[in-house]
Amino acid sequence: MAQLSDDCFAFGGPMRSVDDTAALIASRLTVVDETETVQLANADGRVLARDLVAPLPLPPFTNSAVDGYALRGDDLPGTAEKAFLVSDRIQAGVAPDRPAAPGQAIRIFTGAPLPEGADTVYMQEDVRVDETGRVILPPGLKRGANVRPAGEDVAAGKVVLQAGQRMRPQDVALAAALGMTQLEVRRKVRVAIFSTGNEIVAPGNVRGPAQLFDSNRFMLMAMLARVGCETTDLGILTDDSSLIADVLSEAAPGQDLILASGGVSTGEADCVKAALESVGTLVFWRVAIKPGRPVAMGVIRGTAFIGLPGNPVASFVTFAHIARAAILALAGARQQPPISRPIRAAFSYRKKPGRREYVRVSLRGTQDGTYEAVKFQREGAGLLSSLVQTDGLVELGEEVAQVEPGQTVQFLAYSDLN
Ligand code: AMP
Ligand code: MG
Repeated sequence: MAQLSDDCFAFGGPMRSVDDTAALIASRLTVVDETETVQLANADGRVLARDLVAPLPLPPFTNSAVDGYALRGDDLPGTAEKAFLVSDRIQAGVAPDRPAAPGQAIRIFTGAPLPEGADTVYMQEDVRVDETGRVILPPGLKRGANVRPAGEDVAAGKVVLQAGQRMRPQDVALAAALGMTQLEVRRKVRVAIFSTGNEIVAPGNVRGPAQLFDSNRFMLMAMLARVGCETTDLGILTDDSSLIADVLSEAAPGQDLILASGGVSTGEADCVKAALESVGTLVFWRVAIKPGRPVAMGVIRGTAFIGLPGNPVASFVTFAHIARAAILALAGARQQPPISRPIRAAFSYRKKPGRREYVRVSLRGTQDGTYEAVKFQREGAGLLSSLVQTDGLVELGEEVAQVEPGQTVQFLAYSDLN
C-alpha cells in the first residue's frame, strides 16, 4: 500500500484553482507500486507498468494493399499500355519461393508478401486480361503504388506504448499485433466508498418520511469502475463521528483511497471532520469550483481520503475534476486532462470571476451544421435530472464574468469525463 505522510495535503491559504488542485494532488500521491500480469483479453483499461517496445516491425513484411498484379518498378509501362505474362500467384499467408522475374507480372492478393524485386501492385479493377491470359497494364501508375512496406506502421525497437498508458482497445490491438499474450500492468487502485447522512437510506430499504434514497454511492461506484478501480462498498454511515472514525480506521489499511460523499459542507454537523481528525488528518481545500466547494482531503494512516460534497451534481463535478485526478495519480496513469471543445453558447449567464463554473448543457444541431450548447434551465446542485437530461458541461474559466448567446465557450462531454 502506498503510504502517505499525514501532512501531505496540509495546505492553508487561499482558494485553489481546479487545475492547481489536480496538479497538486497528482504531485502528492504516490503511485501504487505493485504490478501484475494480465492476459491481453483483460488488458483494456489497465495501466501499463513498463514501456512496450516493438519486438518486430509492423507490418512484419512488405505486402500488397490490394488484390491485383505485382511487378518490378523498372517494368512499369511508360506512356502506352503494356502486356505481361502472369508468372506466379501469391495468396495471403504464403511466402513467395522465388524473386519476381523481369518483364513478368505476378497475381497477388491483399496481405500477401511481395516477392523479392517486385515493388508495385496494380489493382485488379485497373487492368484487363486478354484472351491468351496476359494482363494488360495501363500507364500512369507510380512505383511503390499499393504496397505496404515492412515497418511502415511501426519500426522494430520503437517504444509504441509508454508506461502509464491506460490501455484502450486500439492499444490492446497494437500489443496483439506485436505478438504479446500478456502485459505487465499496475494493480488496480483500491477505493472504499461510503455515503454519509442520517437522511440517506439505501434503495431497497424502508425510506422514512424525511429520508432520501442514496444516489451518490451508486453514481460514484459507477464512476470508479470506469476509471478502473477495485471498489469496496462501505454503505451508508449515519452522521456519527465515532462510527465514521471506526469504519475509517478499519478500512484504511487495505485501501489506497477512501472516498466519501456528504458531511463536508461548512456549518454542518462536521462529523466527517471530527472522525478524520480522531484517526488521521483532514484539510478542507477551498477549491474554486462551482458546483462543488468544499472538498475535504485527508490521510488515515498513509491512506488518502477525499470527502466530496453531498449534493449529487457537486459530487459528480468534483469527482470528475478532483477525485479522478487523484485516482489516476495513484494508478500511475499518465494524466490526460479531458479535452474541451469550443462550441457556441445558446444562453446568457453571469458568474463570479475567480472561480471555475461548470454549467450543464445539451447540444443542439444548428442550421450551419455545427452545434450549440443549450443550458439546462435550472441550476440546483441537487437536481439529478439536470445531469441526466444534458450532454456535458460548459467550462467557464476563472476570468469569465458573463456569457452571451453566440459566444464561444468550452464544452466537455460526459463521455470524456468518465
Ligand atoms: P451534505 O454535503 O451532507 O450537507 O449534503 C448536501 C445535500 O446532498 C443534502 O441535501 C443531502 O441530503 C444530499 N445528499 C447527501 N448525500 C447524498 C447521497 N448519498 N445521495 C443523495 N443525496 C445526498
Ligand atoms: Mg449530510
